[in-house]
Amino acid sequence: MKIQLQTRDEGGAWHKALVAALPDATIAVWPETLADPDYALVWKPPPELFARMRPKRAIFNLGAGVEVLLALPELPEGIPVIRLEDAGMAPQMAEYVTLAVLAAYRESAAYAAQQREARWQPRPRLAKAEFGIGILGFGVLGRAVAAALAPFGFPLRAWGATRKEAEGVQTYAGSTELGPFLASARVLVCLLPSTRETRDLLSKATLSQLPRGAHLVNVARGRIVVDEDLIALLDEGHLAGATLDVFRDEPLPASHPFWHHPRITLTPHTSAVTVVEDSIAQIADKIERLERGQPVTGVVDRVRGY
Ligand code: NAP
Repeated sequence: MKIQLQTRDEGGAWHKALVAALPDATIAVWPETLADPDYALVWKPPPELFARMRPKRAIFNLGAGVEVLLALPELPEGIPVIRLEDAGMAPQMAEYVTLAVLAAYRESAAYAAQQREARWQPRPRLAKAEFGIGILGFGVLGRAVAAALAPFGFPLRAWGATRKEAEGVQTYAGSTELGPFLASARVLVCLLPSTRETRDLLSKATLSQLPRGAHLVNVARGRIVVDEDLIALLDEGHLAGATLDVFRDEPLPASHPFWHHPRITLTPHTSAVTVVEDSIAQIADKIERLERGQPVTGVVDRVRGY
């Protein structure tokens, strides 16, 4: 079996893990190229990669989000594109979002400001019943976040393209149910994929439907949020805060107003990083299944875009 590997670094750790998982495979690490590999494992590949080689069986995306790969005109047709599903990212995402939700509920930013002023002032706390958490995108990561938040007792709601059942989570589906979903979210957690449909979804029109004092947590992709609309709603006090891990341009330009906004907490796309060992274990397992003619999960629908 022949495998083409192209990764974000020189491929050292990925190559080592792949050799250990599939010792009989012939592996080339980009820019070294196999003309007709069975499988390609790629992350944000340069366009010339698919001009120089055509994988025969499947293309594995070394991340959960596939928007960059699907946008490549050179992407070969007719073979499955398979994404990472959790692969060690879900527990990290659960930690990040739990931290952001609890910081919002317990008003960490306000207490930090009071401490800087040496001001002793207990603040009234909302009843948990009034502090609904809305998860936009109830897929692999959205479900993991809901499970992590469940023990804290906040009302949990989730919205997706199609309705999903989940114990302890009120679910909503489709554009007609977006309004009622938003109206009840004190914290809105975005875990949608970046697609034609979700681009600019979080604009003034939608974010203003959140209750006054709500927080936004965006851990999905930057282009789902309209930056100026978010800033305007934070400035006018409709939104109390935003925790942002992803941005339209990454690295976030030094001149971007998000950096110094008093109501924004941001991190450099680190909420859930790829875990090499877990990712390769998942991919090797799927390759073995494909070799045996068995179905695999995580196959991307190229028309839907996720
Ligand atoms: P997933 O399992 O594919 O889940 C996507 C969810 O979004 C599904 O519930 C889907 O609904 C819903 N959805 C998609 N398009 C929609 C639309 N137009 N309207 C309503 N719902 C829609 O993906 P995942 O593994 O949870 O990952 C989600 C995203 O997180 C990735 O695409 C990636 O961009 C991002 N991510 C970020 C980081 C980071 O470090 N910040 C790390 C990993 C992933 P249906 O199930 O009904 O189709």
